[in-house]
Amino acid sequence: MTSYIQVRKACKKFIHNGKEFNALDNVSLDINKGEFICLLGPSGCGKSTLLNAIAGFDHLTEGSVMIDGQEVSEPTINHITIFQNYGLLPWRNVIRNVELGLETKKIPKEERKIIAQKYIDLVGLTGLEKRHPAQLSGGQQQRVSIARGLTVDPDIIFMDEPFGALDAITRMKLQEDILRISRQEKKTIIFVTHDIEEAVFLADRIVVMMANPGRIKSIVKVPLGHHRDRIASDFLYVRDKILELFNIKTEEYIEYYI
Ligand code: ADP
Repeated sequence: MTSYIQVRKACKKFIHNGKEFNALDNVSLDINKGEFICLLGPSGCGKSTLLNAIAGFDHLTEGSVMIDGQEVSEPTINHITIFQNYGLLPWRNVIRNVELGLETKKIPKEERKIIAQKYIDLVGLTGLEKRHPAQLSGGQQQRVSIARGLTVDPDIIFMDEPFGALDAITRMKLQEDILRISRQEKKTIIFVTHDIEEAVFLADRIVVMMANPGRIKSIVKVPLGHHRDRIASDFLYVRDKILELFNIKTEEYIEYYI
């Protein structure tokens, strides 16, 4: 069976100080519908470059990306991206920000309000509809951005270090919420992080990447159920195994079984 997302022999070269540089070197990856995939690795290993290529923001130098049988050439409204900087319009209140994607889809006003309220409730912002972004914490602003993305019922959600600017406690709360939402809404999620614990908490599979050149080192299926406990021994075991992986000096692409 062909997978939902297929990345084949992806190469991305950049020119840096007059020299060619491989940000992605021969990366191949299959992702199934409904999977939660984390791209994990140190800064500069090509995580964002890979995400941007799959999302259609950037073109590969060589290789291809197919989603649902179609070659990706540009971003589409069926796939949304959530970045670290929340991208909210400061002059609009919460509900008007959440309605933005629905306006683009020309959904009538009354229907927009109902859909926006559903997702405001889902992300836990009930009661804050009239506030403006400046009156919200970083975590609340990211919730608005997630609610806004969900209103258009996207097939795929791309998240590039979405919780990177948040404090540790808020970050954990948002991780729990995005996990709950992903199960409830049955979305395919591709999530970039350099935080091993975050990846183990969220992912069905973790794509472990390495730098110079940017490449996949391993793909790890996380052998944990849906309810993950950060201090349980099985969670810590998986986290340590992934940490170990960053120290193994193999250049081979391996499926890593824990
Ligand atoms: P990561 O997301 O893992 O931190 P990136 O995908 O952002 O890594 O970048 C991979 C490498 O490609 C880095 O060395 C980065 O400096 C380089 N790079 C990314 N975008 C560009 C660009 N537009 N021009 C030149 N080099 C780039």
